Order: sequence, then structure tokens, then C-alpha cells
Amino acid sequence: MKIIRSNVMGFCSGVQNAIVRVNEAIDLAESRGLPIYTIGPLIHNDQYLSYLERHGVKIVESPEEAEPGIAVIRAHGIPQKMREEFEKRGYHLLDGTCPRVIRSQRIVSKCSDEGETVVLVGDPGHGEVFAVAGAAGGPGRVIIIHEEKDISRIPLEAHMTILSQTTFSKDRFISIAGKLKQTLEQCGGELEIIQSICPSTKNRQQALQTLCETVDAIIVVGGKNSSNTKRLFELAGSCCRWVWHINSPDEVTQEMCGFDVIGITAGASTPDWLVVSIEEHISTLCMNLQD
Ligand code: SF4
Repeated sequence: MKIIRSNVMGFCSGVQNAIVRVNEAIDLAESRGLPIYTIGPLIHNDQYLSYLERHGVKIVESPEEAEPGIAVIRAHGIPQKMREEFEKRGYHLLDGTCPRVIRSQRIVSKCSDEGETVVLVGDPGHGEVFAVAGAAGGPGRVIIIHEEKDISRIPLEAHMTILSQTTFSKDRFISIAGKLKQTLEQCGGELEIIQSICPSTKNRQQALQTLCETVDAIIVVGGKNSSNTKRLFELAGSCCRWVWHINSPDEVTQEMCGFDVIGITAGASTPDWLVVSIEEHISTLCMNLQD
């Protein structure tokens, strides 16, 4: 049995940047004898979070929860108000917000300051959506929607702007934005459509589609609550009959050995050492089954 890796997989530049910030924070906390935190889980990957925990990094959700120390803002970012609350309480912040998320935050902040309503398409429970919506500090509102049917609850205005969570499906965003544009134009209004979907998601998805053409089955590695990993799993299911979403070598099964060629891809928050350990586990299991 042969394992082929996708050409694009694993940590994206935004996650790599946040990890650099955490390593800086670990050094700084050690030299100053301070506690160290990430504001929310750094990435959606339990193995990596356990690794950070072993290095003394705790997760904090609000400033009151813990004694102030060094706190790293993850790639998803945080709302402006929350940033101010942490600073007010004496935390030293290291900013790991992905530059693409910062761009979305700036757009929302500008529109809000100008009194314009922004429609943000994404998962309302996702940290990035919370952080981007929380960049609005002016009179303009942010309305979060997830699907086309949510358009009916948007109060229409003469000029509006729409953008999406960076990891949202491009096709779904185009369809939602197109529908809102049409609705608004029928009422004499105008919609500005901002392209905010991260190419790293698209590149990972395109590489997976190419991989699908050459393999019999696909393993998607990544956290079960990572939205870009879930999207890869959905996509793999649409182009390949045999697909698994796993996040640990313990989830490798004998069934995976029943194929000649198996493809492997990983979400943007999946460390490479996890992929390597899963590959090794499959190879060992399949070899043992042959003996
Ligand atoms: S997926 Fe893209 S936007 Fe999100 S953290 Fe990674 S590089 Fe940034």
C-alpha cells in the first residue's frame, strides 16, 4: 500500500506566524517569571494544545480568569474591546492575528466608523467571526449570516458591504453575495463585495481535488472542530468514495489497509509531526496485517 501526500497541506502561514508568537512568549515569560496564556485555544488541534500545556501555556478566555502575564492573541484575532480589557488588567499582549484577519477587521472598522452596515458571512460561533465583527466601533452595524435564507433578515440600506470568514466556502459566498446584490439592486441599493477568502484554503482544496484523481481513498487529518478541516473532509467525500477524518494515530483502522493507494491531506492547524505519526502508524499496521 502506497501513501501519497497532498501537495498543499498542514499549517498555513497564519498559524505558523501565531506559533512564532507563542515561542517568543514562552521565552519572554521564562525570562520575566510570568505566567503565559493564549487567548482561546491557539489552534484547533488537541495534540498541539497538549504540547503547549506541557510548556506551561494555559488557555484564558477573559482577563479576569487568571493572574495577568504574557498573553498571545491567536491567528483568529480578538475583538478590539477585548484587547483593551486585557491590556487594562495588565497583560502583556503578543499579537499573532493573521494579517488576512487584520485586513477584514480594518474593513469592518472603517465601514462601521462611516455608519455603514457590514454583512459578515461565516459561522457565528467561530473565533475569527467574533474577532472581525468585534472590530466595529462606530455607528455602523455588523450582521452575521451563514446561509442564503438568512438574507431575508437583513435590513436593506442604500450602500452595504459584504465579506466572509477567511475559511468560508468560496462557492457559497459567491452565491450568497450574488443573491444579496440582486435583492439590494432591485431596491435601488448598492453592494460592495469584498473577497476575503484565504487562498491558502483554496490552494489546499485544489490540491485535494488533484489528489482525488490518483488515489483510492483519502485520510483528512485535523481537529474535529477545525472548520477548514471539516471543509476538506466534505470536499474529499464529494470526489472520493472512501474518506476518513481523523486526528490521532489511534483512529487508524485496518480498513485503511484495503487500498492500493491512499491519499493524505491535513487542515491548516494540523502539525506535520501528527501527519508523520499517522503515516507511520498506517504503514506499520498494514505491514503487520500482510505478515
Ligand atoms: S487560513 Fe488563511 S486567513 Fe486563516 S489563519 Fe491561515 S493564512 Fe490566515
